[in-house]
Amino acid sequence: MTRCVAHKFDDGVSPSLEGVREAIPKIAARVAATPPQGYSVYKGLAGAALALLRVSEDEGIDADATEMYGKRALELAEAAAAMVEKPNVRVTFLEGAPGVFAVLAACRAFRGDERGGRDAVVSVLAGAPWALDTSDMELMYGRAGYLHALSFCLNRGILSRSFCQEEIRDVMLELPRDLFKWHGKFYLGAAHGAAGVARMLAKMGDVAGARRLLELTDPYRLASGNVQSSTGNESDRLVHWCHGAPGFVEARLAVGDMEGALEAGGVVWRRGLLATKGPGLCHGIPGNGAALLALYNATRDPTWLRRAQHFGAYAAARIATLEQLADAPLSLFEGSAGAMTFFLDLLAVSRGGHLRSASPYFDGYL
Ligand SMILES: [Zn+2]
Repeated sequence: MTRCVAHKFDDGVSPSLEGVREAIPKIAARVAATPPQGYSVYKGLAGAALALLRVSEDEGIDADATEMYGKRALELAEAAAAMVEKPNVRVTFLEGAPGVFAVLAACRAFRGDERGGRDAVVSVLAGAPWALDTSDMELMYGRAGYLHALSFCLNRGILSRSFCQEEIRDVMLELPRDLFKWHGKFYLGAAHGAAGVARMLAKMGDVAGARRLLELTDPYRLASGNVQSSTGNESDRLVHWCHGAPGFVEARLAVGDMEGALEAGGVVWRRGLLATKGPGLCHGIPGNGAALLALYNATRDPTWLRRAQHFGAYAAARIATLEQLADAPLSLFEGSAGAMTFFLDLLAVSRGGHLRSASPYFDGYL
């Protein structure tokens, strides 16, 4: 099966966003009624909680929906936290306890429980020794993924930098500025490789280190502008946030490499309409649409907004089909909860509002 759909979208014209608008309440109701299994942000309860929190915070949602989804988000986050038996098993935002407690803190704070929110943030901070203990570096399972959890809390304003300076410093010291191996390979993309680590280094203040790491990936840029998934793999197949050019868009923006970000964005636009994956943020059309939206945010060039709109309209019209391709069809990183966060951001930005959460790096909260 062809991995991506060749499209002839006209990026000089905005598509109708009616389907995007209609999809949101339908997805929200389903995520609330039948949330995914497991506790993780990536494809479990904490990710569903985060998606519903995003709905309840949206400026375009009425007060009743804000109340209903804010309450449900908190219930799901509490249920996720109750499932975390060994908080040291995984140390990251996407897959581990720090992500669950970070989302719980955000949900409690949103519901006005400031003390409960602080308690949950303390649980996030408690993960630092385990993050230092692991030998994995990458965003999905390694040390950079612990910074991802702190980054989320900082962006949300539920943690101030002065309270986590030591944790950030200690983990930063143990992060690589050279290409590094994960399971025997030098991965390059966002989930397991250099792009994800570079994004976290830049976020936490080492822009020079992040730039160096990204420069080391330059020899592995393919003729098309895409990036190899690992140093030993020269095939030009994957255009996902996790592997390939999409995860480099925000990493390159974060170090001021606009030329590199635009090149990666061009690949996303031409080849990012994924036909064989679900509707999530990791390897789905919405995750790639989020990269296009990030480029609009950075450049204010309306072409990038229209490109993101085309991706959104296309995905919204095919949500049911895309869900059938996902392991966890209603999850944040593989399923429709992820599509919903992208749709909410797409509509907010299209009406002149702020980018909040669609990016898999969750930096839109700034
Ligand atoms: Zn993926």
